Amino acid sequence: MTTPTLPRLAGALVLASLLAMPRQGRAQVVSAAATPPVTALRFGAMADPSGRTTKNVTILVQADTVLRVGTGTAMIPKGATVVDLRRYTAIPGLIDVHTHMTFVRDKATPLASGPRSRDSVIAAAATNLRRTLETGVTTVRDLGASNYADIGLRDAVNSGAMIGPRMFVAGYGLSKLTTPAVAGQPSLAARGRVRDTMEIKEAIRAQVDAGADWIKMYGSTGTYANVTGVQTFTDVEMRVAVETAHRLKRPIAIHSYGDSGGRAALHAGAESVEHPAGFDDATLAVWAKRGTMYVPTIDHNRFYAENAALLGYSRDQVAGLDSFRLLNLDTARRAHAAGVRFAMGSDAVYWMFGENTRELGWFVNAGMTPAQALATATTNGALLLGQPTKLGRIAAGYYADIVAVEGDPLADIAVILERVRWVMKGGAVVVDKR
Ligand SMILES: [Zn+2]
Repeated sequence: MTTPTLPRLAGALVLASLLAMPRQGRAQVVSAAATPPVTALRFGAMADPSGRTTKNVTILVQADTVLRVGTGTAMIPKGATVVDLRRYTAIPGLIDVHTHMTFVRDKATPLASGPRSRDSVIAAAATNLRRTLETGVTTVRDLGASNYADIGLRDAVNSGAMIGPRMFVAGYGLSKLTTPAVAGQPSLAARGRVRDTMEIKEAIRAQVDAGADWIKMYGSTGTYANVTGVQTFTDVEMRVAVETAHRLKRPIAIHSYGDSGGRAALHAGAESVEHPAGFDDATLAVWAKRGTMYVPTIDHNRFYAENAALLGYSRDQVAGLDSFRLLNLDTARRAHAAGVRFAMGSDAVYWMFGENTRELGWFVNAGMTPAQALATATTNGALLLGQPTKLGRIAAGYYADIVAVEGDPLADIAVILERVRWVMKGGAVVVDKR
């Protein structure tokens, strides 16, 4: 009952043709020649992740794509719909490379279990999608879900049935089973629960067959209030996972709270390493040289600590979360100084959606300029997703993913965290709080 997945390029073409149809908030006239109408967005300024600000910018959008970027009004073609956003600064649609959209819980009843079936999870996740768009995030990499609800969500967004960020999804994350296999019991590999290298290969193949864009592996303990970082998969098993994923043309993200799992993930050749803290300088130097993306997810432990009462965490657990967060921040500071590449990942679950970009505040805290922090959520995210010519910039040929913020985000990162006023994704206005 899984929806067949189109190859990425075909998916993009389907998306483009869907977005080319007239829809709300876009020019109404469709010419006989079926050339999609042009919309001209006029901004007071445009802030680039390279650190440059351009004043009085006009962005021409056609269908889901940026046609041209320039200044002033002379470039606006006759008949274009003009949208006046001159009070605002344009930044590229943001990319959150670590979410769990299908982890749905209501803040009013936090300890009640959420929806269970694939369809009810997908329906309930609509709130997470919307709150994420409201932060200016127009693309996510979703790292782990049950029952392929993430694949259903991605396809619903791509078809236009649901409104949300474009999603790159992983299906079931691979976790290590330490109990011995019992004769006669079926393998759990298709659901990501594996014992050995044979089952690792089987699990990865199953995710790819189901339509996953990415592979996720839990390379250490540590999740929610548990911040232990004990490596679970061996170095060899991680290497097999990376090789299998790559043979099937899928990149792989490896989760590790601890440094040994993180180091193993790095040496195995994962595209990104999620969460880890506590590396020595020699490892950071290797890391910088390899160019592997570091996704520290510092802020999610702030979320858990702040919501400890609602989530039923003990005082000791909160102390553990706080000390891990400090170690995480210190590692990020040293990694940034060593030249390691970062991507912004929130690790958002539950009602943390809507706070996806708070991670950028920690990045500035770790020594980045606001422009460098913006790059982690734009150009670096796009690079990690293999979309450096489609996502992460406002330029001709890129998706028209554009966020209007009030203020100068290159002077103060809080402008991105707190003052998103309008969001366009793929040429369609998805948030308007002007
Ligand atoms: Zn996660």
